[in-house]
Amino acid sequence: AKELGKNNFQFFTADMNELIANKMSLELGLRKALTNNEFELYYQPQVEVESGAIKGMEALIRWRNPKLGIVPPNEFIPLAEETGLIIPIGKWVMQTACEQAKKWESMLNKPLRISVNISALQFQQPDFTDVVKKVLERTNLSATSLELELTESIVQNPQHALPIMKELKEMGVLLSLDDFGTGYSSLSYLRSFPLDTLKIDKLFIDNMHHVKDEAIVNTIISMANSLELNVIAEGVETTEQLASLAGKACDEYQGYLFSKPVPCEEFESLLQTITSP
Ligand code: C2E
Ligand code: CA
Ligand code: CA
Ligand code: CA
Repeated sequence: AKELGKNNFQFFTADMNELIANKMSLELGLRKALTNNEFELYYQPQVEVESGAIKGMEALIRWRNPKLGIVPPNEFIPLAEETGLIIPIGKWVMQTACEQAKKWESMLNKPLRISVNISALQFQQPDFTDVVKKVLERTNLSATSLELELTESIVQNPQHALPIMKELKEMGVLLSLDDFGTGYSSLSYLRSFPLDTLKIDKLFIDNMHHVKDEAIVNTIISMANSLELNVIAEGVETTEQLASLAGKACDEYQGYLFSKPVPCEEFESLLQTITSP
């Protein structure tokens, strides 16, 4: 029994060491990723339910490291937040996404919305609104073409968040509440924040075939509509889900059914096929 205990202990420490080593190499890699040009943005279309037209796209970051391979955002974004690296990474994302959106707007000669995910730490920086302003100036993108996707954790502190949201609104920037329904946000939030869009979390869409989840989706949509918010369903994977949403006054959807997030060249051909006569 003693020997087993010892082995278990060794096994445990080996595991721990590996975990720590992994995290350290991840952090080391992350520190050099920007200068080494290892980040790339993928784009996922946001599609009007009624017409099937592409109204905009969400920019989603990808990290390709020669040693680590492709690291999914769920694995490195938390570390980027922990280390503060999300600040320069977030600036890069916003600049790159707006630059790309401007190109596509010029190509199509019509407005197209670009949605950018914002981390709480980014939003909390005293110069956050300045950063947004500068990006818009540099890229010459209209403020009304940029939508910032905020999480419930950001709006959890209304005293801090509200003035910043108002400043962004005054600039003309669109604000969206991401992953709606998963956090602790209360309905009173929705009323007091200057939001433009509500994104229904994939979790509810996944379970829409259950009566209770469908009821939640119905409630969110009717609430969004009465507050005059644009409502987007996330993670739509099946035609059944889309058909169900079509009967619910849901404005837009996003999901693998229409397209996964794709590199910019691929998104561009998608834009050309969908929007050409
Ligand atoms: P999110 O903002 O909720 O983004 C939606 C995620 O769902 C994306 O995962 C997207 O690829 C995935 N998705 C979209 N449609 C479907 C579908 O039909 N089925 C399934 N199974 N998945 C779908 P991704 O790209 O891995 O990003 C994960 C999360 O990482 C994002 O969740 C967001 O919180 C964060 N993230 C991604 N890019 C950025 C960024 O540039 N900045 C920040 N701060 N966070 C980011
Ligand atoms: Ca998002
Ligand atoms: Ca989301
Ligand atoms: Ca609506």
